[in-house]
Amino acid sequence: MNEWNIALGALVLVLSLAAGALLSRAYFAPVAEESTRLAELMRPQEVPVNDVCWCPAEQRETLHAYHPDGRECWTCRTFTPGGA
Ligand SMILES: [Zn+2]
Repeated sequence: MNEWNIALGALVLVLSLAAGALLSRAYFAPVAEESTRLAELMRPQEVPVNDVCWCPAEQRETLHAYHPDGRECWTCRTFTPGGA
């Protein structure tokens, strides 16, 4: 009868390990998907190119962010249309 109890205990142990593995997979899988989505959101939409040039509003040279359709002053946010 002692061997039967040992075999039953081993069966319960194996089943609980299998259940634990399944539960941990179900628990961690959504986290992995969420971090992938966050990485997509955090990816920059365009690579900003910065350079110093003349700001018409401030009448001095300031740092500008270049966009495909113009440039934007970093200090006063004035947008000057024109190709980069
Ligand atoms: Zn400016």
